[in-house]
Formats: sequence, structure tokens, C-alpha cells
Amino acid sequence: MSTRVDRNIYPELQRFGATDISACFNCGVCSAICPLSADGASFPRRMSRYAQLGLRDQLLSSPELWSCYGCSECTESCPTQADPASFMAAARRYAVASYDRTHLAYLLATSRVFAGVFVVALVGLLAAFMYSVHRPADGSTLAFFEFIPSDFVHNLGVVAMAVMGTAALIGLFEMVRRVLRRPRPGAPKATLRKGADAAVYAVGTEALAQTRFRKDCADATESRPWYSQRWFIHFATMWGFLGLLGATMLDYGLELLGVKATGTAVPIWYPVRLLGTLAGAALIYGTTVLIVRRLRKSDRSSLHSTTSDWTFLTMLWVAGVTGFVLELALYLPTAPAWGYPMFLVHVAVAMALVLLVPFGKFAHVFYRPVALFALRLRG
Ligand code: SF4
Ligand code: SF4
Repeated sequence: MSTRVDRNIYPELQRFGATDISACFNCGVCSAICPLSADGASFPRRMSRYAQLGLRDQLLSSPELWSCYGCSECTESCPTQADPASFMAAARRYAVASYDRTHLAYLLATSRVFAGVFVVALVGLLAAFMYSVHRPADGSTLAFFEFIPSDFVHNLGVVAMAVMGTAALIGLFEMVRRVLRRPRPGAPKATLRKGADAAVYAVGTEALAQTRFRKDCADATESRPWYSQRWFIHFATMWGFLGLLGATMLDYGLELLGVKATGTAVPIWYPVRLLGTLAGAALIYGTTVLIVRRLRKSDRSSLHSTTSDWTFLTMLWVAGVTGFVLELALYLPTAPAWGYPMFLVHVAVAMALVLLVPFGKFAHVFYRPVALFALRLRG
């Protein structure tokens, strides 16, 4: 297979937040120190070498990009301050933008102004669209799904999921095509017949229980309690979001089955409501800690924050906090004046988050499991 050299890849990667990788002299200390790098998945040295040599195709067809959890141990050990951890993060953003044919991911990751204006405009448009069908609000109690008909909200959610799913599948197809077309020289051949079940199990436990993040990529130098460690903050944020998504879908399912109409008053211990409350608390906890650490630069892994970090975290935090506050407001004796406007903001931000999944930091929920699966199949 021919090898093309792309001289522009280096300045391109810098637009995505890569530091000066030209300082790297390929010593390999970073790969030796990385707790997740092994013979079958050698990084970050190999990734930075690809960038130095202009091997764009090799970089984009490396599932190893998605193995990294950004612990920054490699950066701490690098003798030339080449900051391989930041390079890996930038390379993932670059990969997301390269797999996306619409160019939206590229603009969202490289232009702070565009990202800000686009997200605010998208949220505003979604809120205005919902408001265009609103009915007179009940002033005594909060009746969100009388204010905006539940059918309308559900249908909008289904359309958002369909658009997101289609964009994600196109990106995944592009990634898998590249990985299959250009296996790393010397890598064991991946085969579906051998080890697919073990790979599914390994990736499943990794994705859902953060096994490698927790055990192998632990903050060795930290003396933090478990609830403050990086793996748990990521775990709380991920399960908080999934729990809220699950509660929303269950609520919709109960309506379809005729068990309960969306918006019907229920006690706080009603299972779906309880799931939403716990998930909301987990999401708020996780995103608040992540935001505070980025603001204070208190973690070695949060020293460099990019537009896509802030866009994603801010939207998650706003969706979590507004949802949680609205849920508590349902139990107030009188309806607060801010209830309906906050509802519009909450639903619009949640829909925008879903729509933007394949175009930003959130895209790792698709790419990482597939990449880990490919690596597992290679043994
Ligand atoms: S990034 Fe640093 S540690 Fe890694 S190979 Fe280059 S110089 Fe060595
Ligand atoms: S940031 Fe951590 S997981 Fe990622 S390459 Fe460096 S040492 Fe490995």
C-alpha cells in the first residue's frame, strides 16, 4: 500500500491543540511509562512519530488513539517537554473532525467564536421552535407537557436521535474503513472468529465499569479518596448522562404502553423519577468537579482546555443543573415564574447535546469502544 506524506498535518494538529511535538526525539520513554500502552498498542511515541513524518493516513487509522485516558503520566516523563498527552488529545479531536464529512466537527474544534455562536444559535432555535407550539401555561402548578405538548417533545427527540445516529454511523464507518484498510505493520492480524466474545466482554466492562481507567490508569501520584479520583468523576458523568437518557426513554416507553402519561405527577420515589434524580445528581457532581479542575488547572490532565472541552462540559452541566432544579420545582407548593423558561432551556440544551454528539468531545462514546474492540481482536 502506498504511503502519502502530508506536510500540512503538523500545523493542522496544532489548530486542534497539539503542543510542539517537533521537540520529540523518539526516545520511547512515554510509551514505556504509559500504563495502557503494550506491544499490541504502542503509543503515544508511535502516534507522534506519524505526525512528525506527515503520515496522516497512518495516524487516522490507528485505533491506539482511543486507548489513551489522558492521565498525562507520559508528559510528566518526557525529557523534552513535547507533551505527548496533549498531542494524543489533539489527535483524537483531529480524528473526529477527519471522520466527519460535514466539516462541522472541524469548525467546532478549531474556532472558539464559531463554536460559541453555533451552540447558542442551535439552542436558541430549538427553544424558539418549541415555544412556537406552546399553550397557555398553568400558573398554579408546573405542567411542562401541557405547556409544550409531550408528543411534540418526543417527536423532536426522535428526530434528534435519528440525525445523531446517522452522523455517528457515517463517522464510525469512515473510522472502521481506515482501520481495516491500513493495519499497523507488524500488528497481529485481527480476526472475528477468534476472540470476538472475549473482546466484547473486555470492551463492555471497560466502557461500562471503567476497568482499565480504574486499575491501570489510576492516578498513582494522587492520594485522593475514590470519589474524587479521575476514573470516578468520569464514571459519574457518564452514568449520570446515560441514566438521564434512560429515564427519558423509559418515561416515553411508559406513555407508549399506556402506563403513565408523560408529565403525570408522581412521588419522588417513583422508579423512573428516582432514576432521573440520582442520575442528575451524578451528572452535576461529575461535571462540576471537571469544570472546577479545569478552571483551577489543579490536575495535570486539565492544564490545557480547548474549545471542545468547554463546549461539551458547559452543555452537560447546564442540562444537568436545569433538569435537577426543574425536578425539585415540581414539588414546590406554587409554580415558580422561571419554571417554563427554564424548561425550554433544559430541553433545548439536551436536544443540542444529542445532535452534537458525533461532532465533538462526546464522539468518544462511539469511537473508543470500537477502537478498543479492534485492538482486542488483534490480541
Ligand atoms: S514524546 Fe517525549 S518521551 Fe515520548 S518519544 Fe518523544 S521525546 Fe520521548
Ligand atoms: S496520557 Fe496517560 S494513557 Fe495517554 S498516552 Fe499518556 S500515559 Fe498513556
